[in-house]
Order: sequence, then structure tokens, then C-alpha cells
Amino acid sequence: MKSTVVGSYPVELSEPSSFKDKLLNAIGAYDPFKQAIKTSVMAQLDAGVDIISDGQVRGDMVSIFTQFIPGMKIVDGNTEIVSKIRNPTREISVNDLKYAKKVMSEYYGGKIPEGKGIKGIITGPNTIVHSSRIRSFYKNKEDAIIDLAHSLKFEVDAIEKNASPIYIQIDEPFLSTGMVDMKTAREAIDIIRDGMNIPLAMHVCGILSDAFKDISRFNVDILDFEFAGNSVNLGVLQKNANLISGKKIGFGCVDSSVNTVDNKGDVDELVLKAIEIVGKDNLILDPDCGLRRAPGDVAFKKLKLMNDIKDKYS
Ligand SMILES: [Zn+2]
Repeated sequence: MKSTVVGSYPVELSEPSSFKDKLLNAIGAYDPFKQAIKTSVMAQLDAGVDIISDGQVRGDMVSIFTQFIPGMKIVDGNTEIVSKIRNPTREISVNDLKYAKKVMSEYYGGKIPEGKGIKGIITGPNTIVHSSRIRSFYKNKEDAIIDLAHSLKFEVDAIEKNASPIYIQIDEPFLSTGMVDMKTAREAIDIIRDGMNIPLAMHVCGILSDAFKDISRFNVDILDFEFAGNSVNLGVLQKNANLISGKKIGFGCVDSSVNTVDNKGDVDELVLKAIEIVGKDNLILDPDCGLRRAPGDVAFKKLKLMNDIKDKYS
């Protein structure tokens, strides 16, 4: 049994303090987010997380990508689709992932232990298009989703090739809402998956009662859901466990929607049920969703609690 995070972590931005950083700041080249990445990576490692993220500290899950994708424009913080969607103008998260990996390697004295590492995370094309406004060019969301899948594929390939993650995760929270055309959604994920040599995960938050059957058919290796904050999801998993054979389950076991530390007995009980349903070798424990909104100490304690329970059953 391994552990991971869904992605985001509380951001602590710091003023430049070293001489080098002050100098960089003076010429406008200081990157305040670099320290935030390091803080998030160190917290994940100290808590015992096996597969870490870079903390996704640079912004919200949509604009962090759309700001670099031609055809998309950010207006007052919201993304608008203004012309044909093309490939990103640059690699978006590769440098941050490489930095996270460097911090991780140093933490382990120069060699990251087998089975541990980083993961790349992208926001899925369905979620990005459904949270954007189409201003021109596309007559329907589905065509925009397919073009965006091709565009995001460039980022996925760059992450796989240049940051060597353990796996890549696509965040598609909209898939549980009933708003997304599932056939297009599946086609988009197939485009992203094409030619990948590492596992692909898909994170979907929300209640799964209506969408689980469709989601289980997606061509991914790991399906990641919320089970702590959404009590109905465990029943859905139990009833449909036969549909996900061959796939691992990312098992959200601490509640990211409350800013208090979960009850250890409750989490233990939840994980035990998951082991009974899918087996511990098919489980990757993580929080329900990103931890961005939690205070730093609470986020850390949630991760620590989750890893204590992982260790108990590993
Ligand atoms: Zn989520």
C-alpha cells in the first residue's frame, strides 16, 4: 500500500531573505513560489507520503494551464475560449516537478528509494472546458475538449520525458456532475494516454452514485475518489468492485473539506473497509482532494495520520 496526495498544498509565500534571492528580486527574477514548493515537498516527505506532488502552489487548477494555451484567454480570473485551441507555448509544470524531485532526492541523501517519487498532475480537458466560457470558434464544448486534449497531451509527454514521474494524474472533478458527455470525455482521456509508458491516474471528486459505471470504463490505471467526506462513495465502490478489476484505487481517506484533523479511528475503519473491498496492494491512500485551503499544520497532521494508518497495514 502506497500513499500520495491529490495535489495542492497550503501556500506559504516568503520574502527573499538570502543575498542571492534579494539580488534576484532586485532584477525581477525572484520566484516566490519556489520556497512554497520546497515547503510543501518537505511537509509531504516528513509526513511519510510516498508519491508526492509539487504542491500545485502557483494558482488555481484551470488558469495554471490555460495561461499558456493559445486559444484561451484569462479575463478577470476566468478562462475564455477565443479561438482554436493549440499546443501550449511552453512546458508548464516540468521545472517545478524537477525541483520537487531534487528536494526529494536531497531529503533521501541523494537517492530516492524504490517505489517513492513524484507525480505529474494536469487538469483534465473536460474540466477545463466546462469551467471556461466559449466566446468564439467552437460551436460546442465537445470539439473544444478534443482540441484541448491534444494540447494537454504535449504537457503530459513533456512531464513523462523530462521529469520522470512515477505516474501522471488527470484531475477531472466535473465527471461526477452529470454535465459532461462521457463518450467525449473518454475519447479525450484516450488521446492523452496514447503512447504513455507510465501509469495514468484520474481523480474525480464528488458523489459517484450516478457516474461510477461510466467512469470505471475509462482507460486509466488508477481511479482516485473521495471516501472520507462522501460517505455514499464507499457503498458505490463496494457494489461495483467487479467493474474496476485491474485498476488501482486512489482512496481519499481524510476529509479535505474540513479544516480539522480527522478522527483516527474513523480513518482506520474506512481504510480497513477499502482493504476488504479491493485489497491493500490495489490501494493508494490520499486525502479526498487538494489541501490548499487547510492551515499548514492541519494539512500536515492529516497527511501524517493517513501515513500512520498506511504503515499499520503495510
Ligand atoms: Zn478533487
